[in-house]
Amino acid sequence: MTDTSTEKEAIQTQHDTGEKTDEYFIDERFADIQMLRYDVPCFDKLTLRRKLLIYYLTEAALTGRDILWDQNCQYNLPLRKTLEAIYGNYSGDKDCTDYRHFLTYLKRVWFSNGIHHHYGYSKFKPLFSREFFLRELEKVPTSLLPIPEGLARQDFERLMDRLVFDTDFMQKRVNQTDGEDLVATSACNYYAQGITQHEAEIYYNSIKAAQPTDRPVMYGLNGRLERNTDGTLTENVWRKGGMYGKAISRITTLLEQAMEYAESETQANTIRQLVRFYETGDLALFDTYNIMWVQDTDSEIDFTNGFIETYGDPLGIKASWEGYANIVDKQSTMRTTTLSQNAQWFEDNSPVDTRFKKAHCTGVSAKVVNAAILGGDLYPSSAIGINLPNSNWIRAEHGSKSVTIGNLTHAYRVAAKGSGLTEEFTIDKATKELIDMYGETCDNLHTDLHECLGHGSGQLLPGVDPDALKAYGSTIEEARADLFGLYYMPDDKMTELGLTPDTEAYKALYYSYLTNGLLTQTARIAEGEQIEEAHMRNRALIAHWTLRHYPQAVGITERESKHYVEIYDYPALRNAFGVLLSEIQRIKSTGDLEAARRLVEEYGVKIDQRLHKEVRERYAKLNIAPFKGFINPRYTLVRDKDGQAIDVAMDCTETYTRQMLRYGKEYSTL
Ligand code: ZN
Repeated sequence: MTDTSTEKEAIQTQHDTGEKTDEYFIDERFADIQMLRYDVPCFDKLTLRRKLLIYYLTEAALTGRDILWDQNCQYNLPLRKTLEAIYGNYSGDKDCTDYRHFLTYLKRVWFSNGIHHHYGYSKFKPLFSREFFLRELEKVPTSLLPIPEGLARQDFERLMDRLVFDTDFMQKRVNQTDGEDLVATSACNYYAQGITQHEAEIYYNSIKAAQPTDRPVMYGLNGRLERNTDGTLTENVWRKGGMYGKAISRITTLLEQAMEYAESETQANTIRQLVRFYETGDLALFDTYNIMWVQDTDSEIDFTNGFIETYGDPLGIKASWEGYANIVDKQSTMRTTTLSQNAQWFEDNSPVDTRFKKAHCTGVSAKVVNAAILGGDLYPSSAIGINLPNSNWIRAEHGSKSVTIGNLTHAYRVAAKGSGLTEEFTIDKATKELIDMYGETCDNLHTDLHECLGHGSGQLLPGVDPDALKAYGSTIEEARADLFGLYYMPDDKMTELGLTPDTEAYKALYYSYLTNGLLTQTARIAEGEQIEEAHMRNRALIAHWTLRHYPQAVGITERESKHYVEIYDYPALRNAFGVLLSEIQRIKSTGDLEAARRLVEEYGVKIDQRLHKEVRERYAKLNIAPFKGFINPRYTLVRDKDGQAIDVAMDCTETYTRQMLRYGKEYSTL
């Protein structure tokens, strides 16, 4: 599971930027995007061996890029190559409006790894003219266009034209509209065209029925569902020699090189197991790999590489490709270690029904890390918290590894500093001061609680299907983890453990959280649209449910024709979060799909249009980019005259466009 950072921008605290200046972190801006850089503070101090390990893990993380592009939509790769060819071939006026809009469009496509918005999932609307596009496309020599064999250039051009300009074609990457055929209406490439949701569900239900109930593999995770000539369905597995085989083969070579510099024999064996999984596509091997990976808690350099998260599949079965590498931040990790060591206390004292609690909390490991590279579905828009593996039985029997990515969080803070957002959406000076004083500490702690304890807490009743909540599962799971953190933030245990400075600090989090859920997060959604993304739905659900059921604790107040969140009773809010946590855990533990649907549809999806308009106008005046993403550092091997690697150089000056064009060349595998 991953957690996005955007909520952290909602209300921000002033923060010391460290030794780097703001300009270092804040880079290019286009459309609704602000690009940021991140620092890898400890890299230069690493031994050569560790630098080499990072280098090969980094290369492996970048090499899967094209897999994700193809997963997001089957036409993404040809379109990217076509747009890049037009960009490279263009010799006209670079100041003309059409060209400038074309550039913005290209940057958005790069950012989203395809033609659909990375958060809203809708297809981008180009602002350049169709005439401009067709004229420039026509000028590109055929040899530079990725025209598939057997397709006439004319037909290829028509396809590109439809992709960019036909609003009904491939309209939404992931459609989650209740009651529609989610498979047939989603543009993602996990199911071949013509396959319906009903067919896919029957297919996977039959596979599920053949699985052992106690330790099922994550069936369907690593393949595209396709139709045989006789009409039956089959899975085209992503593996060496199979679908995406060219990319996977390059990844395994790099992983084998990384293995030579592994932190330990354990880590080398873990990587070897991952390679075997990539070679065979056998999900039982993926389970063994995950068990080995989760047990390796000593390695100071760690990684993720593979088919991991299922947010991009409307049925939540198929995983998008991602890769990254990280270096532990030992000092900050003390904080999460404290939480982990007390995991059982938190579990025992939570407000949920005893039947849904874990008798033994196993292996909740938690670290603060610095990212060394972001790849696949983590690039350029990244999670700041990651908790893996996702297999329920492995989590139950072997625990999970949870990380908070410190250097990314820090870059976000720098970007948010002085944006004026806190001032605009905070009701009074006293609350603003509270947020200034405690906001950052509480934000960090809430993320830690969410990742280290929230996701790992609770248990399903025996026989309950882990996928029972279907399309609502992700939202309910995120709400569970968020509520766990919200509930515990004011607890005396937090001050006793030395984590919160005093018993007032939690108020900063409560105010920020509700303001985000009720008001500010909708600034990132276009007028007239609903909330789609699971983390956003979760925050809306919690905030709106609380507003409806605890009017004595929280309200929305109008002052000088602006609306603000007003909190009347903080302790009562804690009580509200406890009650909702208990209900959400019941829904999860019993697999109550109907209750999940009611909660999410009632509180997590719809937006009050009048309030939405106001929030967007106030937000627009602040001129803040609603989404942020990261430019990666560039690592190069330094060799002596005999060709021996003597160092790995890290460079953080590459521009966004250069990086994207370079990735298009160096990591083009499909
Ligand atoms: Zn989460």
